[in-house]
Amino acid sequence: MKIRLKQEEEEEGVVTEALLDSGATGMVMSEEFARRHKFRRTKLERPVYVRNVDGTLNYAGPIVDTVEVEIFFKGHKEKTLIDVIREQKWSVILGMLWLGYHNPEIDWKTEEVNMTRCPDKCGKKWKTGRQTKPGWKKWEEREKKKERRKPTIEGVRMIERIREEKEDEEEDFIELRATEEMVP
Ligand SMILES: [Zn+2]
Repeated sequence: MKIRLKQEEEEEGVVTEALLDSGATGMVMSEEFARRHKFRRTKLERPVYVRNVDGTLNYAGPIVDTVEVEIFFKGHKEKTLIDVIREQKWSVILGMLWLGYHNPEIDWKTEEVNMTRCPDKCGKKWKTGRQTKPGWKKWEEREKKKERRKPTIEGVRMIERIREEKEDEEEDFIELRATEEMVP
């Protein structure tokens, strides 16, 4: 799937084809791709040794660098760390860590990927194209609304007064009708 990657200080970033791979654990970027697009790298505290599917150690050596990037995909946005790996054909591989976290809806026939089940942390703009607010913003607004709905003591008194006045009016009305009926 086509994603756009950019580092914070960049304007546009770069669009690339990423591979979704449920057989991979983390998220990796090819060393060559990182170099070509001058991604700023940070050294990992300790190297991570990569194992191949058969359990043997990857001959390309351990992962030592990581890059902090923003990933954009169909209006979906996230900030994440991607490990830089040597001898890697794909520019970016998004593995189980990513798949599990965002839990995208994937149509395996049409290869369509939709980010409809993301955690609230992701900035998202759904299929409808309508921008939905991030979770914390929704929560904040809900709290504010609740605050507004909570009747103040003044408010309660006011409601009671109105109710009493209404009851008085109704009584007057009944009385009035009663007198009219009494008139022959
Ligand atoms: Zn997401």
